[in-house]
Amino acid sequence: MKNKKLDAIQIWKQFEDYMVPRLELSVVDRAVYSHLVRHSRLEGKLRLSFSMAWLARGTRLSTGGVRPAVRQLIAKGALRLVERTKAGHVVEVKLPEDIRGCQGMVGSGPGCSPRGVSLEETDFWETKALREAIHERERGRCFYCLGRVTGRTRCLDHVVPQVQMGSNSYRNLVSSCMECNAQKGEMPAEDFLRWLCRERRLTSAELADRLRKLDALAAGELRPVLPALPHQSTVGARFSASQSASSFANPLPRKPRPTYHPENLGAFSRPGNRR
Ligand SMILES: [Zn+2]
Repeated sequence: MKNKKLDAIQIWKQFEDYMVPRLELSVVDRAVYSHLVRHSRLEGKLRLSFSMAWLARGTRLSTGGVRPAVRQLIAKGALRLVERTKAGHVVEVKLPEDIRGCQGMVGSGPGCSPRGVSLEETDFWETKALREAIHERERGRCFYCLGRVTGRTRCLDHVVPQVQMGSNSYRNLVSSCMECNAQKGEMPAEDFLRWLCRERRLTSAELADRLRKLDALAAGELRPVLPALPHQSTVGARFSASQSASSFANPLPRKPRPTYHPENLGAFSRPGNRR
């Protein structure tokens, strides 16, 4: 294998935009992978021989922390183990485009989505498949009230409303139940979440979690997986936005959620903001 001329900017974009969500890499996995790439591929070397102590020092982590990350990266195909000796590991460090679970992401060139635009530039309102990617990210729950939604009871909501120049970016679109979509209206999302808590539709711990998720969304940390082309592998193609269960109880009893019949939901929908 020849070490072709690399474009570090594109590698970094592929790593952040596709490899991390598709392989579901943790923060430690990311630190370890980027340190290994830095000292192998960016130095023109395919292989790298290293010890866990060296890796731990370089990533400012413990050896107990980096060891499972190396194991994970090997299991996910980001590293190929060539040799393991007492002195350490010899691995071949794969670039995102060479990793099986990420192939196809760069259909029209490194750093590009199958449609040839970056994740940041993608209009997620544009096609059904892209809208579906947002719904999938929320895993069948309303982003706001955490209620279960189905294909018939969900819609996409602009966190910052379109009238306030909110975009169709994955950072501004969430899957929501129709009731929340209608009730939120042009209210800031943070105020709406607090209102849901006052209405006892969210516990205080759920509210804290939702506010954190709102920040993560705006920071671009909740990336949906772009729809795959037919030839693409689906290995690891599900981004898991953690919907952590709350460990603190709201002192007030939780109000039961009303049940809705799909036919009644028309009353909640706002045509301009529903798909
Ligand atoms: Zn809701």
